[in-house]
Amino acid sequence: MDGLFFQNKRGFSSYHVENVLNTLCEKYPFARAETIGRSVLGRPVTVLVIGEGARRVFVNAAHHANEWITSLVLLRFAAEYLAAVDKDGVIYDAPARALYRSATLHLLPLVNPDGADLVNGQIQDEAVLKRAGRIAGRYPHIPFPDGWKANIRGVDLNLQYPAGWEIARANKAEIGVVSPAPRDFVGPCALSEPESIAVFNYTLENNFDITLSYHTQGKVIYWKYLDIDVKNALEIALEFKKVSGYEVEDVPYASGFAGYKDWFIKRFRRPGFTIEAGEGVSPLPLEQLDEIYKNNLGILVRALLCTNH
Ligand SMILES: [Zn+2]
Repeated sequence: MDGLFFQNKRGFSSYHVENVLNTLCEKYPFARAETIGRSVLGRPVTVLVIGEGARRVFVNAAHHANEWITSLVLLRFAAEYLAAVDKDGVIYDAPARALYRSATLHLLPLVNPDGADLVNGQIQDEAVLKRAGRIAGRYPHIPFPDGWKANIRGVDLNLQYPAGWEIARANKAEIGVVSPAPRDFVGPCALSEPESIAVFNYTLENNFDITLSYHTQGKVIYWKYLDIDVKNALEIALEFKKVSGYEVEDVPYASGFAGYKDWFIKRFRRPGFTIEAGEGVSPLPLEQLDEIYKNNLGILVRALLCTNH
């Protein structure tokens, strides 16, 4: 892989993600980038679309600011997949052009551009920094900015979706989070933030067959929302386990509501997964990128291949 993706740790930013997406689209005109919304600070939330098949696959990463390493996993996958399509090669164990013809992949590498920029010291605006610092100051036990997961307004973007949002609010109130915070604040209402609204609307417009949401910590695959029975979801999760070595688990009750996967399953009754990649303290060090990529390459290819109806 060329140097494009891996400057030093603090080199990561939403600008970097945009640059990579633009470069890929220039190099491979059969891919296209679509800006589906803007962050609180006006940064683009951009999806890369690859493929022309009937199967619609949505993979998003970094709802959580300090989990931005997963953005690099998706960018790297995009680069390798596009290169393989271009030269009629193989990705993981699949002929790339066959994948391209059978599935359309919608890849959203960075749901939370402002938060990732905050964590990586890429925000210069003093007023914005001061406001975030004030929010963080109320939670001295959470390292700042490394422990920041929320968007720039202190709303946790993966607690924003209309699937048990009130329960999530009650659960988080119980641990004392009822206002903007580095993590765990559900927002004033469901879908109050432009980033989660963009993902929500894009999902409604595209009627996906399957979704994967990338997070970090634990090497675990979550596949359920409440007891909703989704055809083939467990089978697919077990297939993901086989190719990644990750475990398949039920979500702990306290974090089991208002996430993207929860809403996707509730709304569409189709397979939606949360992948908790890697292990350690967030943000995970870049040194883990190769291993995380290796573990997840099979999952990403399987997501394009699996059929669920
Ligand atoms: Zn997360």
